Parts: sequence; structure tokens; C-alpha cells
Amino acid sequence: MTALATKSPLDGKKLEEIDATPEADIAKIVADARAAQPAWAALGSAARAETLLRVKDRLLDRAEKIGKTLHEEIGKPEGEAMLAEVLPSADVFDFWCKSIEEMLEPTEVELDALSYPGKSGSISREPRGVVAVIMPWNFPVALPLRTIVPALLAGNAIVFKPSEISPRAGKLVAEFFDEVLPKGLLGLVQGGGDAGAKLCESDVDLVVFTGSVRSGRKVAHACAERLIPCSLELGGKDAAIVLDDANLERAARGVVWGAMSNAGQNCAAIERVYVDKKIADEFTKRVTEITKSLRVGDDVGPLATEAQRDIVKSHVEDAKSKDGSKILAGGSALEEGYGFEPTVVRVTTDDTSLMRDETFGPVLPIRVVSGEDEAVKLANDSKYGLTASVWTKDFDRGRRVGEKLRAGVVTINNHAFTGALPQAPWSGYGETGYGITNSPLALDAFTRPRFVLVDRSRGARELWWYPYSPALKAIALAFAKIRSKTTPIGARLGAVFALVSAFVKRMRE
Ligand code: NAD
Repeated sequence: MTALATKSPLDGKKLEEIDATPEADIAKIVADARAAQPAWAALGSAARAETLLRVKDRLLDRAEKIGKTLHEEIGKPEGEAMLAEVLPSADVFDFWCKSIEEMLEPTEVELDALSYPGKSGSISREPRGVVAVIMPWNFPVALPLRTIVPALLAGNAIVFKPSEISPRAGKLVAEFFDEVLPKGLLGLVQGGGDAGAKLCESDVDLVVFTGSVRSGRKVAHACAERLIPCSLELGGKDAAIVLDDANLERAARGVVWGAMSNAGQNCAAIERVYVDKKIADEFTKRVTEITKSLRVGDDVGPLATEAQRDIVKSHVEDAKSKDGSKILAGGSALEEGYGFEPTVVRVTTDDTSLMRDETFGPVLPIRVVSGEDEAVKLANDSKYGLTASVWTKDFDRGRRVGEKLRAGVVTINNHAFTGALPQAPWSGYGETGYGITNSPLALDAFTRPRFVLVDRSRGARELWWYPYSPALKAIALAFAKIRSKTTPIGARLGAVFALVSAFVKRMRE
């Protein structure tokens, strides 16, 4: 048995032991989920919603325990854990349980009664079957639930693999559902990349993956081999654009929160700020003051792993080595645990790892720009494209600038919090991947469409069935001529006559 993530990033204290699931057991966990799925799907969406609302209460009742577990396991401040993970997850249950029945209602398709007499069609959404949910450690409760809840409500079974860095949080998530769901319907696989890879190769019908670009590529390859779909929510390098007419106090506070919350370990953390030169000094001064006032531990926790802290260190060092750059606050790793001081860096170039690669730490680089156009150009020059924000008192201007940004989510005078809104789609451009989480659009991943057509015609045959005669060919040609806007009016009239006469012949065949 391999023990997972044994030490707390706060102080190195030993944590409750959690073992990786033996690889040989994964196929059985998937098979159990598959066996439980048809009965769950047959229950109907109203009964499924009723069941899951009971799980919501369990989540809320365990809020304190969740806060404590996440604090010890990944260093997240307890209050932040409850605000960013527990309460938004309760919203996820409420939103989906309330709307699933209507969302799964079959929709009628309009068919032209002359071309398709007696026929009616409808589209229904069928569950995919068994969904593998492979998740990272940075929001170890909220991220899995925003997929597990709608995927279950759509009638699927789940096999959930939390990150090897947050196995205790993963266990808690699975326990919310214990004894409420039918046995086997939600399976738990603990382990690292090997377990994730094995799960992708097993008999699952869809993989919903959130994590790094490196692992996301491997998941995409594995799913391509099996010809199953996958949804990928990967990294980010979010930009905040602060325009010359911004509400400076709000922008400074919002940008610091957007960069530092969860110690910057957020796919949608602000990792680049482009500020108009007219207000740059005042804005930077205020951001620096606010950052210096943050309490390490209470406001900004440690990084979850030593490796993560080393990446942050190396990005800051790289930025520091460039002419004109200056550390305005923080800049160093803490002595105890894996902490890093909340840091503000003035930068003059984007040609550094700090401005190009995902830092995932409490570091805010600020670059002064000549105005809106330069800000948009630099913001868009990234391999990622998750979210971006524009800070301005002129909301129309904010929208206009926002529409030029290569980002799946754009917020005007706020940042990133929309990931907590189950109503709003969360998606990105480029290497951020092609997954869509939240909103009714996410159902396209969890369901497959089934089109059913009922034909009530009593005729012995359709027009287009055999025999393929000259009359049928004449009908097809006449239709083409009549429907084309470029056919001269005389030719069109001729085609109408040809059509009538061909029809009469066809009826006698
Ligand atoms: P990671 O890629 O190291 O791990 C993510 C998950 O994938 C883990 O459960 C891991 O065990 C598993 N895994 C690793 N290799 C695998 C493989 N070959 N096949 C299947 N599974 C495999 O990522 P991480 O360090 O845990 O998370 C941080 C990353 O997640 C960051 O890049 C961050 O931006 C991204 N993220 C994105 C979003 C989003 O919504 N776009 C949200 C949160 C985090």
C-alpha cells in the first residue's frame, strides 16, 4: 500500500494515513458503478434530485470539519475553505436539483409537414453511463462537486479520483454520498497519476478532468485511444487590465484578492496586471500597501507542496533578474512550512516565466502600459485563456474592452468569483482546454443526445424510396431549381410544371 501526502504543508505535522487504491481494484470499482447505473437512471430526475438534496445537508452540516481538513491538508485558511468551497457547493446542489427535470425534458423538433408528412421528432438527453472525475488539489471539495452533482442528476454513475495531494478532502467528498446513493454508484479511487491513467483506460464512458496541461494532454491521448469523450479544464495565466478611469480603491483591493486568495493557487488567479500609465503610480502604491497588510497564515496560507513553492521561487528570481524590475512587497519563501510571502513585483517585460507560465503562488506582477490597446495586446499574448478582468468606471468601455479579450470568462470590476456560480459557464481558450463546467451547457458533456422520430404516415412508401426512376430524378432536379435563388423566374416556373408532371408519373409507379 502506498501512503499519500503524509505531511501538512503548514508545519510538516503527520496527517491521518490514506492509502492509494490498489491498481488491480480499479476495474472492479468501475464495474460496480456500471452495474448500479441503469437503476439510478431509471429512477427519473425528480427522484434523483430529491436524493441529492439530502447530500447537500450533509455537506453543510460538515462545514467546520471540511474547513479544518482543508487547512491541515493543503494549508487553506479555514474561513476561506467554507466561503469558497462549502457555500458555493451548496449552491451547486440547489441550482441543479431545482432545474434538472426541466433541463432533461425532451425537446420537440419542427419538421416541414409537406416534405415530411406524418412525422414528428424529439431530442432527449441520455446519460453517458460511467463518468470518471479526475480532480486537482486546489479546490478539492468545490471542483469535484461541480461535476459530480450534475453528472449524477443526469443519470450517470461516477468514479471519482481526487488528487494524491488532497486524499483526505477526497474521502470527505465521497462520504457525503455514503448510504444515500445506491451501493457502487459513486466509486472512489485514491492515488496519483498512475491511478488516473488506469482509470482513463478502464471501462468508463467519459473523463472529466481538471488539472495541469501536462496531465490533460495524457488524458486526451488515452481517451482518443478509446474513442471516448473527455472534458479538460486546465491551467490559466489570467490578466487584469486596470484602465485610467478605474475606481482605484476597488481595483487595488479586487486585484490583490484575485491574486492572493488560496495563496494564488487558483487556475483563475490574477497572474498579470496591466495598468494604464496615468494611474500606475497611485494604483501600485495602494496594491503594495494592501499586500503588505495581509497576514500570512490567516489571509494567505502556505503553498500546498514543496515543489509548488520552488516553482514560485524560481519565477520570482527570473523576474528579478530583468532590468527595471523591482520587488515592492514580499519576495521570499517563509522559514516554516511551504509558505511564500505575498509578493508584488513591478515588471517591464513579459519575457519571463513569471509573465508566461502558470506561477500558482501569491505573486502579483504589475506592468505599466501606454493605454487600452497595449493592455489588450499583451493580455491576449498568452498560451492560456481562462478568465480576465477589466477595471473601469465606464461599464460600456469595460464591455468593449472585454469583448476583445481571448478569455472564456470576462469580469468587469471583479475577478474569477464566477467559478462559484453554477449558472455561468466556465471555459477557456488555447491550453486552458475545451471543457465547459457549470451552466446548462455542461450537460452536453454528461449526456448524449438521442433523436427519436415517429412516422404516422399510412402510405406504402416514401417519395425517396425505391424504385429510382427517371420521374424521381426529374422531381429532385425540379426541387433544386425551385429552391435556388439564382434560377431565373421563367426557369423556376418551368420547374414547377416539371415537378407537377413528374409527381403524377411517380404516383403511378
Ligand atoms: P495535475 O495535472 O498534476 O493533477 C490533476 C489530477 O490528474 C490529479 O488527480 C492527478 O493524480 C491526475 N493525473 C496526473 N497524471 C495523470 C494521467 N496521466 N492520467 C490521468 N490522471 C492523471 O494538476 P494539479 O497540480 O493537481 O492541479 C493544478 C492544475 O490544475 C493547475 O494547472 C491549475 O490551473 C489547474 N486547474 C484548472 C482549473 C480550471 O477550471 N481550468 C481549476 C483548478 C485547477
